[in-house]
Order: sequence, then structure tokens, then C-alpha cells
Amino acid sequence: MIIILKEDALEAQIDELRRDMESKGVVVQDIRGESKHMLGLAGDTSSISDEALQRVDFVDRVMKVSEPYKLSGRHFHPGPTVLDLPGGVKLGGGAFAVIAGPCSIETEEQILSIAKDVKRSGASFLRGGAFKPRSSPYSFQGLGLDGLDLLKIAREKTGLPIVSEIMSSEYLDVFARDVDVIQIGARNMQNFSLLRDVGSLGKPVLLKRGAASTIDEFLQAADYLLMGGTDRVILCERGIRTFETATRNTLDISAVPVIKKKSHLPVVVDPSHGTGYWDLVFPMALASVAAGADGLMIEVHNQPECALCDGQQSITPALFDQLMRKVNAMREVI
Ligand code: PEP
Ligand code: MN
Repeated sequence: MIIILKEDALEAQIDELRRDMESKGVVVQDIRGESKHMLGLAGDTSSISDEALQRVDFVDRVMKVSEPYKLSGRHFHPGPTVLDLPGGVKLGGGAFAVIAGPCSIETEEQILSIAKDVKRSGASFLRGGAFKPRSSPYSFQGLGLDGLDLLKIAREKTGLPIVSEIMSSEYLDVFARDVDVIQIGARNMQNFSLLRDVGSLGKPVLLKRGAASTIDEFLQAADYLLMGGTDRVILCERGIRTFETATRNTLDISAVPVIKKKSHLPVVVDPSHGTGYWDLVFPMALASVAAGADGLMIEVHNQPECALCDGQQSITPALFDQLMRKVNAMREVI
């Protein structure tokens, strides 16, 4: 529900109305457009009567938001959100950033070497999985806390802020302290208690789209994070499962402009998981930029053929460097 206030509404009146709404258990968001001042109500609004609100003398109009997502939607925030991220990086609304690094942190030499290379090529963030959500329980599960320690060393040596996936609330404190952008993986996109917990940390979160999730479900998951308390959510399109078997997932590039119509949040694309093949990463990364993505997440490995996870979809630092040059050149002309 959105309450559109009259131009002459007093701040004291608005404050009182806001407190009244909050006492009914809803989240109230201030929306200031160019000419209009509005209050967006998210949460369970069933105890709030729009007719009663309509009679308040400083209320101009009450609008119901029919979409199932609210806080991530454009109604609540008409312009694009530009996120202020660690390392002074901006993302969204024309500010573009690249997250690069291996699927998994393996050794200090590996993560350091990749970190230095991707930094030199212009990446803004270093990614690396310490807790890996593997389909098989027999596959490499990540180095866990030791992996995070190595990622921190790479941050210290390069200055790159770090992105890593949290798989359970058990490690909330560690991620709150050590990780700059907390990743929620595709498999956990609808782990609602994890979303609430991670949102409550108030840190930037990279939310990956579930492999079988619609865009509306994706945005509702983002609302869980925003309701939890963070105001910095990055949406990541990483491919969805379809009948096609030629690629690991079907990268839904159309999701980029569709999400941008529906949501104010920045959208980055992960063509590595989106395709599953290193030689498809380059063209699909460019396609994502052309479609309006605010950033990219790319898996880079110094020895892809020996990688403990996702080597087949990882590009070498040399190819990443070429990709960055091409992306920068393309961004000049679009
Ligand atoms: C990852 O980024 O390492 C990952 C596991 O991705 P996804 O959750 O998209 O499968
Ligand atoms: Mn991976």
C-alpha cells in the first residue's frame, strides 16, 4: 500500500501517521519523488483500512500495490538504487562493477595469484567460495573457515573487497565480521530464515536467482533481505533450469531488462554458472552488458583444468583481461 501525501502535509503529522502504521507491525518506507511525498507500507497490511486512511485530511490518495514484492519494487523507489559498497565501489544506476575470482578458494598461492590478476584487469571485487553448495556430498565442499582466512589475506594484499557465500546462519557472526558482500546462493534463495538473518546484519548482500524461481519469487526473496534490515541488495541472474541440456543452465538475459522494469535494485549477471562452459562466458558476458546489466560475476581460475570446482566454466586470467577490455569498450558506446 502507498499513501500519497498532500503537498501541505506537515512533518509532525507525517511522523505521527508513520508511528501509527509501524505500531500495526508494517515496515514504512519514505518515498520522496520529484513532486510527491509518499509512504510505502510493506508487510501485513490487513489491519490497515485504506478507506480510513483516505479520510485523513493530509492524505491525497491511497494506492494498493498488487505486486507480491514491495520494498524491492519500483513503486517504493521509482529511480534506480545506486549502492555504496565497500572499497568505495558504486553499483547501479549507471555505475558498473565486476566481481571475479575462483569458484572455490583452494590454496593461498591460488587465491593470491588470481586476486592480483583480476585486480590488474579492473575487477572491483574478489569472489571465492569457502562453503560450497555441491550437488554431491562426495564432491569438494570448500575449505570452510580456513578458506575465509585465505580470502582475507588476498583482500589485505590487493585491497579488493571480498564476496563469499554463506550457507547457514551458523556462521553469521564470522560473515558479519569478515566478508564485505555476503552471497546467498541459488539453492538458498528461498531459505527464508537465512534471508532474514543475513538481512539483519545490515551488510551488502548478493542474492542469486534460484534455478527454478520466477522473477517475482526472486524479488520476494529480496524483500525478505530488505525487511530484515539491509538496504544494500544486489540481484544476480545466474541462469535457470529449462529443458535445454546443451548448457548447464539457460542464462535468462531477458531477466535483466524485466527486473529493471520491476525493481530499483542493481542486477549483475553470472555467465559462468549461467552457461557452464568457459567459451560461452565471453559472449554471454557481453550480451549481459548490452542488455543493461549493472555488473558481472565471472569465475576466473589460474589453472582451470585443475580446479577443485567448476573448472569447465572458469576462464583464465588472460581471457578475463581480454573480456574486461571488451566490456569497457562496449560500455563506452552503449
Ligand atoms: C557460486 O557462485 O559459487 C555458486 C555456487 O553459484 P549458484 O548459487 O548460482 O549456483
Ligand atoms: Mn562455481
